[in-house]
Amino acid sequence: MAQQKWHQQPAFNFSSPSDGSSAPPFNTNYAEILAKIDAINPSKYAQTRNHTSGAVTYLSPYISRGVISTRQVLQALLAKGYKPYQMAKLVSELAWRDYFQRVHQHLGPRLLTDIKQPQPNVLHHNMVAALREANTGVEAIDQHVQKLYDTGYMHNHLRMYVAAMACNMAKAHWSSPAAWLYYHLLDGDVASNTCSWQWVAGSFSSKLYYCNQQNINTFTGSRQQGTFLDADYAHLQQMPVPAVLRPSLPLALKTPLPEVNTINLNPELPVLLYNSYNLDPLWRANGNANRILVLEPSHFEAHPISQRVLDFVLALGKNIDGLQIFVGEVGSLPLPAQVQVHYKEHPLCRHYPGVADARTWIVPEVSGYYPSFFAYYKKIEPLLPK
Ligand SMILES: Cc1cc2nc3c(=O)[nH]c(=O)nc-3n(C[C@H](O)[C@H](O)[C@H](O)COP(=O)(O)OP(=O)(O)OC[C@H]3O[C@@H](n4cnc5c(N)ncnc54)[C@H](O)[C@@H]3O)c2cc1C
Repeated sequence: MAQQKWHQQPAFNFSSPSDGSSAPPFNTNYAEILAKIDAINPSKYAQTRNHTSGAVTYLSPYISRGVISTRQVLQALLAKGYKPYQMAKLVSELAWRDYFQRVHQHLGPRLLTDIKQPQPNVLHHNMVAALREANTGVEAIDQHVQKLYDTGYMHNHLRMYVAAMACNMAKAHWSSPAAWLYYHLLDGDVASNTCSWQWVAGSFSSKLYYCNQQNINTFTGSRQQGTFLDADYAHLQQMPVPAVLRPSLPLALKTPLPEVNTINLNPELPVLLYNSYNLDPLWRANGNANRILVLEPSHFEAHPISQRVLDFVLALGKNIDGLQIFVGEVGSLPLPAQVQVHYKEHPLCRHYPGVADARTWIVPEVSGYYPSFFAYYKKIEPLLPK
């Protein structure tokens, strides 16, 4: 049984940034992940989450990889005695996660195009060189891009600043910068990432998001002045592309997939297919099965991830007893005839063979497309676990 071995897994620690300001090590041992849920203080979260030094949960790498679910986090906190009113802010953030998943479920591949309307004022479809080089001259942004490279994590506010700088100041289409961020994030998730970039860039929202230096200073603790962002919002919206943001480059991101494609299948047992979005150690944990982590080259060609992220995925897989790795297309798996195959539903897995199990949702009863998060939240709020 997978459960018996959690405490024996060696911790796989991802280093903290040298400034020591926030991101803790992203341990991959299941027991330590559960301890992170246990350590959440929902009121402190609500008061401080917008600040880079705030008490955010750092759970997204585990939620995105399907190790834990939004509902599991909520239920663990309810079991500790927290009341819904004490957790309102955190629950609404968890609901953003499910909202974007529902949007992806509904749109399928259309998610990867401008969702509601074309992004306005696009000058190119490249990556902004200064952002990639952490050399925009806005110290807080440059430091946090470096921190992303060092840790695989970026605070939500910084993600918004970076997206605003790339799309609304440098006027790049969201697609390349979004792929760049996704490549480096331990929590890289096609739905959350794509929807969030489009929300900032105005193709999935009614207005473009801008940030100025004062806002950045407030939430990051920096004190910089005199940058091109040191202006009021009306001025920023009219500003030509600052010289430092003009150079751009096409991205050539590659996933360093390992070369493993031999697996041993027991034809008497069912086959359970895992992937980088389903690494749930509790999924069908009772009973014997062939457990296979499928890393499809076509998936990683479309959505490349870095070595750090790949290592993180592989380390999370160690929580699943007997998990074998298969690098290849799911259609080329040598599945014995008549064997039962199961996987977890996901819009990027619609070509999998076998039977799809439902994912765990914060409110499973509410599905389908809602044009705004607020319309979705209104619907789920009365049905939230209490
Ligand atoms: C441009 C941009 C790109 C993003 N790309 C991703 C991505 O690839 N993967 C990803 O998981 N999140 C993404 N986000 C959303 C958000 O930034 C992260 O989920 C959050 O910062 C994760 O840190 P945390 O777990 O400490 O968050 P907390 O603040 O502790 O939130 C708790 C949980 O709520 C959910 N959540 C919180 N904020 C959001 C949000 N704005 N949207 C969706 N879910 C949210 C996450 O599951 C998170 O783990 C992106 C946001 C922006 C603006």
